[in-house]
Amino acid sequence: MSDHYAVIGNPISQTKSPLIHGWYARSCGQTMRYTALEGPLGRFAETVDAFRADGGRGLNVTVPFKMEACAYATTLSERARLAGAVNALKFEGDEVLGENFDGMGLVRDVTHNLGFALRGKRVLLLGAGGAVRGALLPFIHEQPASLTLANRTLSKAVTLAAEVASHATVNACSYEALAGQQFDLVFNATSASLRGELPPVPATAFAPGCLAYELAYGKGLTPFLRLAQASGAGYLADGVGMLAEQAAEAFAWWRGTRPDTQTVIAQLTVPLV
Ligand code: NDP
Repeated sequence: MSDHYAVIGNPISQTKSPLIHGWYARSCGQTMRYTALEGPLGRFAETVDAFRADGGRGLNVTVPFKMEACAYATTLSERARLAGAVNALKFEGDEVLGENFDGMGLVRDVTHNLGFALRGKRVLLLGAGGAVRGALLPFIHEQPASLTLANRTLSKAVTLAAEVASHATVNACSYEALAGQQFDLVFNATSASLRGELPPVPATAFAPGCLAYELAYGKGLTPFLRLAQASGAGYLADGVGMLAEQAAEAFAWWRGTRPDTQTVIAQLTVPLV
């Protein structure tokens, strides 16, 4: 029987992962099965135990199980440990390896697909949830000139900045404190867009010609991207490339070969209008 992988989440009907990994498997000539698994809330470990007992080789993990997956893993990468969240698991005998490819996928999309360097730039991240946790270390590795974290609940941003203080100085602040500051790359890593809401980022935060990146994908021109466009941003992007790139990282980790992501990105892109 072919190797079995899956994505686990709740709900899971919206997931694009089986489609993406199906494309990757075909393009790399890999024989594998990839399905979607709805994990009952409060029964993550039992569900994964059963998947492993059935011969499952690895899982992508999505909302709301990324922290439970972190606790389930026997070995964590530094990225996953620092994020306190795992978005990919690999099963090797009794060993459960935990990884977090979200931040890597985001950096790869920005630097490789979109051609924007983070190095030496003023970078602003909005939000302090799971996506930001995953992004912090990969962002720090790119050596931006400054990295600022603004969150509605300021204490969460302050805690995150303190957790990475041994790696770099991250400026944690409220949205109000962004007044008078400008940034070359602005990332909306809040979940506001999922409800059609706008995080209270001042229009003046967008430096002329900056990159405005919405981590949510498939939503077209969100309120954040609309504000960025009206405020002089030079380039708008959503998280479809991040999605494709983090999946490619997991695929390479499991299968030893990295698929090309361009077809997947082209197929899943929803125009930003
Ligand atoms: P979390 O639920 O962990 O965090 C949500 C964050 O959004 C919190 O910081 C919260 O602030 C903030 N927030 C929510 N609503 C508002 C609002 N109206 N105004 C200001 N801030 C708000 O979410 P995730 O980190 O998991 O996901 C964040 C986004 O990233 C989502 O849009 C998700 O779809 C996207 N994402 C995309 C991926 C991709 O591959 N493209 C992968 C992972 C995530 P507070 O702390 O004050 O509550």
